[in-house]
Amino acid sequence: MSFVMNTYSRFDLEFVKGDGSYLFDKDGNRYLDFASGIAVTNLGHANKEIAEVICNQAKTLLHTSNLYKISSQEELAEKLSKRGFGGKVFFCNSGAEANEAAIKLAKIYGNKKYDGVRYKIVTMEGSFHGRTYATLSATGQEKVKKGFEPPMDFFVHVPYNDYDSLYNVVKDGDVIAIMLEVIQGEGGLKKADIAYLKNVRELCNRLDILLIFDEVQTGIGRTGKLFAYQHYDVIPDVITLAKGLGNGVPIGAMMAKEQFAEYLSPGTHASTFGGNYLACAVANKVLDLIDDELLQSVQEKGLYLKSKLKEIFSGKGEVRGEGLMLGVALNDVNNMDFINELHKEFMLAVPAGDNVVRLYPPLTVTKEEIDEGITKLEKVINKLWG
Ligand SMILES: *Cc1c(COP(=O)(O)O)cnc(C)c1O
Repeated sequence: MSFVMNTYSRFDLEFVKGDGSYLFDKDGNRYLDFASGIAVTNLGHANKEIAEVICNQAKTLLHTSNLYKISSQEELAEKLSKRGFGGKVFFCNSGAEANEAAIKLAKIYGNKKYDGVRYKIVTMEGSFHGRTYATLSATGQEKVKKGFEPPMDFFVHVPYNDYDSLYNVVKDGDVIAIMLEVIQGEGGLKKADIAYLKNVRELCNRLDILLIFDEVQTGIGRTGKLFAYQHYDVIPDVITLAKGLGNGVPIGAMMAKEQFAEYLSPGTHASTFGGNYLACAVANKVLDLIDDELLQSVQEKGLYLKSKLKEIFSGKGEVRGEGLMLGVALNDVNNMDFINELHKEFMLAVPAGDNVVRLYPPLTVTKEEIDEGITKLEKVINKLWG
């Protein structure tokens, strides 16, 4: 019997060691990891430079609390701001917490500036924003809310990529924020259209609505830009980050333009662990390692993997995604069956909604490792469709 609460349906696999793009089980089997802990270990397992930062920081100082100044937190905020849209940053420990912070920012803005008259937050059908009470309420998937009814009542879901439906809700004048993923991760790698995002941006400008992009999965280089919004000529007011930011060390962040950030004044929001010495030291290193050169290589390797996937899945599925945030919406075969077969070939991938198999290699993956992955995928294709 297990003393761990039974909240996950886990695969029957356990790993004891990692090295770059590979994970090893206790029998020494080597798995090619195209899951990266669901877009977390973007710089590979047991990354030497990250490990050194962790060791050094552990020997120096782990935590003092946000009662005192933390220079590495200042430095990290400055890096995110300068490589983003010039906002201010709040640090927390996870994606859900980053979205909670964004939701609180939207609420306090609506309450202070519009006396609570504007209180609704619009999110998208098929979205995923987390498992806390506010973020499961924000999530546009019934299965996430099931059993926890009623959800918070100020979230309204509209179809993704559908401007008219969005406008229909917003026109009543009681909406304070719109939150969306530029590419829906859990929802099955559905991408927002450029024209749609431009229209949403223009609508938010016109009506003073906060535009929040949940970049918890798309951010930190996964799509070939540091932030996925940078593929579009559309700048949000707020972004949320987590997954890849600490390469496995927990850290989340919410960045907002200054005119909104100032509404979260001292005493309005806090986190004990948020932005501590360890997390900030690691995230600073992660951002230094994800430089323009690496991002360029992510775009190139992404195009290569995508073209190979299109070849081998021709007629068997639709290849989706951007950079190394790729996946295939399978025809005829169940995504979980596919992934279980892939495990037999010693390769990992992640399921998503819409019968999608996500392929998230580390951003540091080599071309040879991509070729190895393609060979393994082909074997499974031949088995399941052959
Ligand atoms: C994973 C994810 C979250 C939740 O992050 P946690 O760290 O698990 O709380 C929120 N939004 C998106 C888009 C995600 O992919």
